[in-house]
Amino acid sequence: MTDTPLSAAELVAAVPGLARYLRPATLLHPYAAPDADPRGGRIGGPALWPAGEPWPHCTAGHPEDEYGFPRKVTEEPAAATALVPLAHLRVEDAPHLPWPEGTDRLQVLWCPNDHDDIQGERFYYGPAVELRWQRAADLTPVAPPPPRRSEKEYLPQPCALRPEQVLDLPDRDELPGELSRAVEEFAARQGIEYERDPGRADGWKLGGWPSWHSTDLIAVDCGRCGERMAHLLTVESGGDPDLSVGRHGELHVFVCPVDVAHPVGLDLQ
Ligand SMILES: [Zn+2]
Ligand SMILES: [Zn+2]
Repeated sequence: MTDTPLSAAELVAAVPGLARYLRPATLLHPYAAPDADPRGGRIGGPALWPAGEPWPHCTAGHPEDEYGFPRKVTEEPAAATALVPLAHLRVEDAPHLPWPEGTDRLQVLWCPNDHDDIQGERFYYGPAVELRWQRAADLTPVAPPPPRRSEKEYLPQPCALRPEQVLDLPDRDELPGELSRAVEEFAARQGIEYERDPGRADGWKLGGWPSWHSTDLIAVDCGRCGERMAHLLTVESGGDPDLSVGRHGELHVFVCPVDVAHPVGLDLQ
């Protein structure tokens, strides 16, 4: 038995087949900071946006709307709901993300309502997520319009970040059978639980691997081109951002490796 969690590097030294599965990741470690520098990495507001570019809105129907209105009413532009800023992320905090040429800021926005009909998302019920890859030089502080409707648990409390660079390993579900068994045998010899113990990167995370702790692995393929998507962001419930996604679990946002402009993939754990 060991009391000290093994690092990803130690695991790879013991089970060399894992080396090709090592991926860089950034743990965000958000902490409450209502007056944080708006230009720093953040969860929640305040907002930055390119001057002259309209603030994005969600024009989807929301299941809750149907109790009072026919869905077609919500499809009128006038009934669109302003997206809210979920995260403002900097290239220097996550250089391993697939930054399009010339961009250095990633804004993750979401519609703070549940959606049950996002294209390509079967079995999903949660916020609709959009990415904007931008340039810091283009961004200025703005006051976004308030969302027309919102669920309180999808409105993040403003937080600053303490980014930590780590190397991440996948759940055993992601590994071929033989390697998965080798990992399991090594973990048993060490008296550790691979999925929990060896310095696994949990919480708000950029890049690396998603955790499949509540379902088995679900392949997330691009709805536009069919390519297997890569984990971009884990949103965690609780803590200072004080969100609650799924059953107070995690939301995983996936991005297409062919083109980051393809619609994101979403998964709730
Ligand atoms: Zn929406
Ligand atoms: Zn694609």
